[in-house]
Amino acid sequence: MSTAAKPFALTDKQLAKGIAVGKFTITELGIEKKCTMCGEWYPFDDEFYQPYFKKAESRFYVKAECKACCTERHRKH
Ligand SMILES: [Zn+2]
Repeated sequence: MSTAAKPFALTDKQLAKGIAVGKFTITELGIEKKCTMCGEWYPFDDEFYQPYFKKAESRFYVKAECKACCTERHRKH
């Protein structure tokens, strides 16, 4: 389907480190990431997490909070 979420790429090192600190987990559906705001686990893809580009480092990062929390925070400010 065209609306399918696109998972973010992770190196084995990033994934192993993330699992060690409790940031990532692997389920039967794939990699999930814990939101730092609400503490919920969501699939690590562009449907649930927002990527952003850091010009200074010329690379993409993914926000630590899920999209719902980002929206919530912007509403408050
Ligand atoms: Zn959240």
